[in-house]
Amino acid sequence: MPPVKALIVEDERKTAAFLAKGLHENGFVADVAEDGETALLLIRQSEYDIIILDVMLPGADGWSVMKDLRRRNDATPVLFLTARDAVADRVRGLEMGADDYLVKPFAFSELLARMRSILRRGTGRQSHILSVADLQVDIPRHKATRHGRQLDLTPKEFLLLSLMARRAGEVLSRTLIAEQVWDINFEPTANVVEVHIRRLRSKVDDPFETKLIHTVRGIGYVLERRA
Ligand code: CA
Repeated sequence: MPPVKALIVEDERKTAAFLAKGLHENGFVADVAEDGETALLLIRQSEYDIIILDVMLPGADGWSVMKDLRRRNDATPVLFLTARDAVADRVRGLEMGADDYLVKPFAFSELLARMRSILRRGTGRQSHILSVADLQVDIPRHKATRHGRQLDLTPKEFLLLSLMARRAGEVLSRTLIAEQVWDINFEPTANVVEVHIRRLRSKVDDPFETKLIHTVRGIGYVLERRA
Protein backbone atom coordinates (compact mmCIF):
# COMPACT_ATOMS: atom_id res chain seq x y z
CA MET A 1 0.00 0.00 0.00
CA PRO A 2 1.38 3.45 -0.83
CA PRO A 3 1.93 5.74 2.14
CA VAL A 4 -0.87 8.08 3.16
CA LYS A 5 -0.30 11.56 1.79
CA ALA A 6 -1.20 14.46 4.00
CA LEU A 7 -1.20 18.19 3.44
CA ILE A 8 -0.54 20.39 6.43
CA VAL A 9 -1.86 23.92 6.02
CA GLU A 10 -0.41 25.98 8.83
CA ASP A 11 1.29 29.36 8.87
CA GLU A 12 3.07 28.89 12.18
CA ARG A 13 6.33 27.43 10.98
CA LYS A 14 7.26 25.72 14.20
CA THR A 15 3.92 23.97 14.44
CA ALA A 16 3.99 22.98 10.76
CA ALA A 17 7.51 21.57 11.05
CA PHE A 18 6.61 19.69 14.21
CA LEU A 19 3.54 18.15 12.58
CA ALA A 20 5.41 17.24 9.38
CA LYS A 21 8.20 15.58 11.35
CA GLY A 22 5.73 13.61 13.46
CA LEU A 23 3.83 12.44 10.40
CA HIS A 24 7.01 11.38 8.61
CA GLU A 25 8.04 9.39 11.65
CA ASN A 26 4.70 7.63 11.53
CA GLY A 27 5.02 6.64 7.90
CA PHE A 28 3.03 9.42 6.27
CA VAL A 29 4.11 11.57 3.38
CA ALA A 30 3.45 15.18 4.34
CA ASP A 31 3.60 18.46 2.45
CA VAL A 32 3.32 21.84 4.10
CA ALA A 33 1.55 24.95 2.81
CA GLU A 34 2.01 28.13 4.81
CA ASP A 35 -0.98 29.97 3.39
CA GLY A 36 -4.32 29.32 1.75
CA GLU A 37 -3.26 30.14 -1.81
CA THR A 38 -0.36 27.70 -1.70
CA ALA A 39 -2.66 25.08 -0.22
CA LEU A 40 -5.15 25.47 -3.08
CA LEU A 41 -2.35 25.23 -5.63
CA LEU A 42 -0.95 22.05 -4.07
CA ILE A 43 -4.41 20.49 -3.79
CA ARG A 44 -4.97 21.04 -7.51
CA GLN A 45 -1.58 19.65 -8.41
CA SER A 46 -1.67 16.46 -6.44
CA GLU A 47 -4.01 14.18 -4.63
CA TYR A 48 -3.99 14.11 -0.86
CA ASP A 49 -5.57 11.53 1.36
CA ILE A 50 -6.19 14.04 4.12
CA ILE A 51 -5.80 17.76 4.74
CA ILE A 52 -4.93 19.21 8.14
CA LEU A 53 -6.20 22.73 7.90
CA ASP A 54 -5.56 25.57 10.27
CA VAL A 55 -8.45 28.05 10.15
CA MET A 56 -6.46 31.19 10.92
CA LEU A 57 -4.23 31.79 7.91
CA PRO A 58 -2.93 34.92 6.24
CA GLY A 59 -4.67 35.71 2.93
CA ALA A 60 -7.18 33.03 2.01
CA ASP A 61 -8.13 31.52 5.36
CA GLY A 62 -9.07 27.94 6.15
CA TRP A 63 -12.73 28.56 5.31
CA SER A 64 -11.91 29.77 1.78
CA VAL A 65 -9.77 26.68 1.25
CA MET A 66 -12.60 24.43 2.38
CA LYS A 67 -15.19 26.31 0.31
CA ASP A 68 -13.05 26.01 -2.79
CA LEU A 69 -12.48 22.32 -2.16
CA ARG A 70 -16.15 21.47 -1.74
CA ARG A 71 -17.20 23.70 -4.65
CA ARG A 72 -15.08 21.53 -6.90
CA ASN A 73 -16.63 18.42 -5.33
CA ASP A 74 -13.28 17.46 -3.95
CA ALA A 75 -14.15 15.12 -1.08
CA THR A 76 -10.66 14.93 0.43
CA PRO A 77 -11.18 14.60 4.18
CA VAL A 78 -10.39 17.73 6.17
CA LEU A 79 -9.37 17.84 9.80
CA PHE A 80 -9.34 21.45 10.87
CA LEU A 81 -7.50 23.11 13.69
CA THR A 82 -9.37 25.66 15.71
CA ALA A 83 -8.41 28.10 18.43
CA ARG A 84 -9.40 27.46 22.00
CA ASP A 85 -11.89 30.30 22.17
CA ALA A 86 -13.49 29.76 18.76
CA VAL A 87 -16.37 27.46 19.64
CA ALA A 88 -18.64 28.77 16.88
CA ASP A 89 -16.00 27.75 14.33
CA ARG A 90 -16.48 24.12 15.22
CA VAL A 91 -20.10 24.01 14.14
CA ARG A 92 -19.30 26.11 11.09
CA GLY A 93 -16.47 23.84 10.02
CA LEU A 94 -18.54 20.70 10.36
CA GLU A 95 -21.39 22.32 8.44
CA MET A 96 -18.98 23.22 5.69
CA GLY A 97 -18.06 19.59 5.34
CA ALA A 98 -15.02 19.15 7.52
CA ASP A 99 -14.62 15.66 8.93
CA ASP A 100 -13.38 16.55 12.37
CA TYR A 101 -11.54 19.22 14.29
CA LEU A 102 -8.91 19.56 16.96
CA VAL A 103 -8.67 22.36 19.48
CA LYS A 104 -5.25 23.97 19.74
CA PRO A 105 -3.03 23.12 21.52
CA PHE A 106 -3.41 19.37 21.06
CA ALA A 107 -1.22 16.35 21.65
CA PHE A 108 0.35 14.86 18.55
CA SER A 109 -1.00 11.43 19.53
CA GLU A 110 -4.50 12.92 19.44
CA LEU A 111 -3.92 14.22 15.91
CA LEU A 112 -2.73 10.79 14.79
CA ALA A 113 -5.75 9.10 16.36
CA ARG A 114 -8.17 11.53 14.68
CA MET A 115 -6.43 11.13 11.31
CA ARG A 116 -6.54 7.35 11.50
CA SER A 117 -10.18 7.39 12.44
CA ILE A 118 -11.02 9.68 9.49
CA LEU A 119 -9.01 7.56 7.07
CA ARG A 120 -10.67 4.39 8.33
CA ARG A 121 -14.08 5.93 7.70
CA GLY A 122 -13.13 6.58 4.11
CA THR A 123 -13.99 9.58 2.00
CA GLY A 124 -17.20 10.69 0.43
CA ARG A 125 -20.14 12.78 1.36
CA GLN A 126 -21.97 9.96 3.07
CA SER A 127 -19.46 10.13 5.89
CA HIS A 128 -21.11 13.37 7.00
CA ILE A 129 -24.26 11.52 7.91
CA LEU A 130 -23.40 9.49 10.95
CA SER A 131 -25.54 6.56 12.00
CA VAL A 132 -25.69 4.64 15.24
CA ALA A 133 -28.59 2.19 15.36
CA ASP A 134 -31.66 4.24 14.36
CA LEU A 135 -29.98 7.54 15.22
CA GLN A 136 -28.83 9.65 12.30
CA VAL A 137 -26.79 12.79 12.62
CA ASP A 138 -26.74 14.80 9.43
CA ILE A 139 -23.83 17.18 9.93
CA PRO A 140 -24.24 19.41 6.83
CA ARG A 141 -27.96 19.86 7.44
CA HIS A 142 -27.51 20.26 11.16
CA LYS A 143 -30.24 17.74 11.83
CA ALA A 144 -30.55 14.66 13.94
CA THR A 145 -33.27 12.04 13.80
CA ARG A 146 -34.13 8.89 15.68
CA HIS A 147 -36.33 6.33 14.09
CA GLY A 148 -36.98 8.91 11.39
CA ARG A 149 -38.28 11.41 13.91
CA GLN A 150 -36.50 14.74 14.07
CA LEU A 151 -34.86 15.66 17.37
CA ASP A 152 -35.19 19.23 18.53
CA LEU A 153 -31.66 20.08 19.68
CA THR A 154 -29.96 23.32 20.67
CA PRO A 155 -26.69 24.12 18.81
CA LYS A 156 -24.66 22.97 21.84
CA GLU A 157 -26.62 19.74 22.10
CA PHE A 158 -26.10 19.15 18.40
CA LEU A 159 -22.36 19.73 18.72
CA LEU A 160 -22.24 17.35 21.67
CA LEU A 161 -24.25 14.68 19.86
CA SER A 162 -22.18 15.02 16.69
CA LEU A 163 -18.99 14.65 18.74
CA MET A 164 -20.35 11.48 20.33
CA ALA A 165 -21.57 10.12 16.99
CA ARG A 166 -18.24 10.84 15.27
CA ARG A 167 -16.56 8.88 18.00
CA ALA A 168 -19.25 6.27 18.51
CA GLY A 169 -18.07 3.36 20.61
CA GLU A 170 -15.27 5.44 22.12
CA VAL A 171 -15.49 6.42 25.77
CA LEU A 172 -15.20 10.20 25.95
CA SER A 173 -14.02 11.72 29.19
CA ARG A 174 -15.83 14.71 30.67
CA THR A 175 -12.66 16.72 30.23
CA LEU A 176 -12.46 15.89 26.54
CA ILE A 177 -16.14 16.71 26.03
CA ALA A 178 -15.79 19.99 27.91
CA GLU A 179 -12.76 20.92 25.84
CA GLN A 180 -14.33 19.98 22.49
CA VAL A 181 -17.72 21.53 23.09
CA TRP A 182 -17.16 24.35 25.58
CA ASP A 183 -13.48 25.21 25.87
CA ILE A 184 -13.49 24.45 29.53
CA ASN A 185 -11.20 21.94 31.05
CA PHE A 186 -11.38 22.35 34.75
CA GLU A 187 -12.92 20.03 37.28
CA PRO A 188 -15.48 22.46 38.77
CA THR A 189 -17.22 22.86 35.41
CA ALA A 190 -17.59 19.12 34.79
CA ASN A 191 -21.16 19.62 35.92
CA VAL A 192 -21.91 21.49 32.69
CA VAL A 193 -21.19 18.31 30.78
CA GLU A 194 -23.45 16.25 33.02
CA VAL A 195 -26.29 18.72 32.69
CA HIS A 196 -26.05 18.71 28.91
CA ILE A 197 -25.76 14.94 28.73
CA ARG A 198 -28.94 14.72 30.79
CA ARG A 199 -30.74 17.09 28.43
CA LEU A 200 -29.46 15.24 25.42
CA ARG A 201 -30.62 11.94 26.90
CA SER A 202 -34.08 13.32 27.49
CA LYS A 203 -34.34 13.97 23.76
CA VAL A 204 -32.25 11.20 22.22
CA ASP A 205 -32.93 8.29 24.56
CA ASP A 206 -35.91 8.82 26.85
CA PRO A 207 -38.62 8.55 24.18
CA PHE A 208 -37.06 5.37 22.78
CA GLU A 209 -36.65 1.87 24.08
CA THR A 210 -33.04 1.37 22.98
CA LYS A 211 -30.70 3.64 24.91
CA LEU A 212 -27.62 4.85 23.07
CA ILE A 213 -25.91 7.20 25.53
CA HIS A 214 -24.19 5.27 28.31
CA THR A 215 -22.31 6.43 31.37
CA VAL A 216 -18.95 4.84 32.01
CA ARG A 217 -18.42 5.26 35.74
CA GLY A 218 -15.54 7.43 36.73
CA ILE A 219 -14.61 8.12 33.12
CA GLY A 220 -17.29 9.67 30.98
CA TYR A 221 -19.78 8.75 28.31
CA VAL A 222 -20.09 6.63 25.22
CA LEU A 223 -22.61 6.58 22.41
CA GLU A 224 -23.21 3.09 21.12
CA ARG A 225 -25.75 0.39 20.58
CA ARG A 226 -25.56 -2.23 23.28
CA ALA A 227 -27.03 -5.68 23.00
CA1 CA B 1 -2.53 30.00 12.02
